[in-house]
Amino acid sequence: MKEYDYIIVGSGIAGLYTALLAQGQGSVLLLTKAGINECNTRHAQGGIAAAIGIGDSAELHYQDTIAAGAGLCDEEAVRILVDEGPDRITDLIDFGVHFDTVDGEVALTREAAHSVPRILHAGGDATGEHIEVTLSRLAMLAKMVIMEYCLVTQIIVDDGVVRGVKALDSRTGAMEEFRSRYVILATGGGGRLFNFTTNPDIATGDGIALAYNAGAEIIDMEFFQFHPTALRLPGVTPFLISEAVRGEGGILRNVEGRQFMSDYTPDGDLAPRDVVARGILAEMKKIGSDRVFLDVTHLPRRLVTARFPHIYRFCLVNGLDITKSPIPVAPAAHYMMGGVKTNAWGETNIAGLFATGETACTGVHGANRLASNSLLEVVVFTKRIMQRAKEGVSTPLGNQREHFSLGERKGRKASRKLPPLSLLALQSLMWDRVGIVRSGEGLTEAISTLALWQQAADKPSDRSSYELSNLILAGRLMSEAALIREESRGAHFRSDFPQPSSDWLKHIVFRKTD
Ligand SMILES: Cc1cc2nc3c(=O)[nH]c(=O)nc-3n(C[C@H](O)[C@H](O)[C@H](O)COP(=O)(O)OP(=O)(O)OC[C@H]3O[C@@H](n4cnc5c(N)ncnc54)[C@H](O)[C@@H]3O)c2cc1C
Repeated sequence: MKEYDYIIVGSGIAGLYTALLAQGQGSVLLLTKAGINECNTRHAQGGIAAAIGIGDSAELHYQDTIAAGAGLCDEEAVRILVDEGPDRITDLIDFGVHFDTVDGEVALTREAAHSVPRILHAGGDATGEHIEVTLSRLAMLAKMVIMEYCLVTQIIVDDGVVRGVKALDSRTGAMEEFRSRYVILATGGGGRLFNFTTNPDIATGDGIALAYNAGAEIIDMEFFQFHPTALRLPGVTPFLISEAVRGEGGILRNVEGRQFMSDYTPDGDLAPRDVVARGILAEMKKIGSDRVFLDVTHLPRRLVTARFPHIYRFCLVNGLDITKSPIPVAPAAHYMMGGVKTNAWGETNIAGLFATGETACTGVHGANRLASNSLLEVVVFTKRIMQRAKEGVSTPLGNQREHFSLGERKGRKASRKLPPLSLLALQSLMWDRVGIVRSGEGLTEAISTLALWQQAADKPSDRSSYELSNLILAGRLMSEAALIREESRGAHFRSDFPQPSSDWLKHIVFRKTD
């Protein structure tokens, strides 16, 4: 059996950036469950935040991030993010990422809840694709082994120390075992938990399930961000209409053409994402419609097509000229704030197991992510992981003293007939009961159904059955955490506890105990 220094799971920005830094430090195996460029990263539009502009500062970026996080950010992690961010942008430029410029200077745009323009972008609204393609090209030329269509199904841990992974080669059906000194989980988010999502097929929360089953701590799962504006065209998958569209002057209107967001918040269209998503949901409910409109028809055509070429083209191909007609939009599941608990060096509570990117929870986002901080988080904390690994140390995080485990809720009966398990049934349940607005009753019902599905499901054998099983576990962790948190904070909103409570200025951590 081949042994490596580093096994990296995933090939989005987190996996690729880790692999590129690791290749100078030892042997590297990169495993990814689909084609190398299939990931959330490729879909990122708005850009990457960093305090590099005139009038901006690390302190201002810190304050905006803390404010968005609604009392639950890890202040040390945020300080690291904003202080080290600008240097990591330079690293990306050195890797060949070309950010857009104006008059020779890096162009910066503003997004909701940022107090100044601080978002760097590439190819207009194709930032993620540009980063992904640049890094994956470098990785393919570098000295490392890359195995596509290899789904990691288990993290091997002996005596509290990581030893490697088991993986299913989806093309041959063979299960293989790989050994390594370090395993770095970079498996992305879990937007596929919901039937309306901006995330591609790969976003099935695998890292959460892998880490939980290996004994790692999972934190903040109740905080899932719903993006307010995804395209809502019949027969078209919900495609993200970037926040930057509102940043550049796009206006939200209801189906009657009236601007409505100021009815819900004084910040109007540029309020934080959760506020805008709930405002849109309330307006849709009030009028009895399944969409609102994002209007850019008043903006210069040249601005729209130059700044948002990707969105413009995607809509045009689907029969909508956004310079002439308003864009039908509705909220959709977007970003997982919670994840595998790490410290400021990406370490988990298992020696040798690191996590980075959307599957990790460093604590920088707290209860709500500030737009465009996620790509920055990846590059800042991945660099720190590799510094730690280079020093040859991996001191596991001490286990959190107070934690929950799923076993405690086993065996409760569903109050209604158990619906047959399918991906769509799971996604609909999560959208209806664990979505933008939650209640104790709905969450209890979701948990009962998920627990019974867990008990009834066959042992996974192929990629889709592993993914479904991972989604059920991630959904269960999310629903349980949302039920435990009896308050509303950041992206977590409970209709039966609509206010934040000072009793809940703390985190919910899960760890498998059986
Ligand atoms: C539409 C959209 C727009 C966004 N816009 C922005 C933005 O403008 N700015 C910003 O900062 N953030 C944005 N985000 C969020 C950001 O793109 C993601 O958080 C970030 O790209 C996550 O990177 P990642 O490498 O952690 O995960 P991903 O890019 O999703 O990569 C995960 C990788 O892991 C692989 N994988 C998963 N499970 C397994 C397994 N079991 N075995 C093997 N491989 C596995 C996948 O195949 C994939 O290669 C956006 C997200 C979306 C969906």
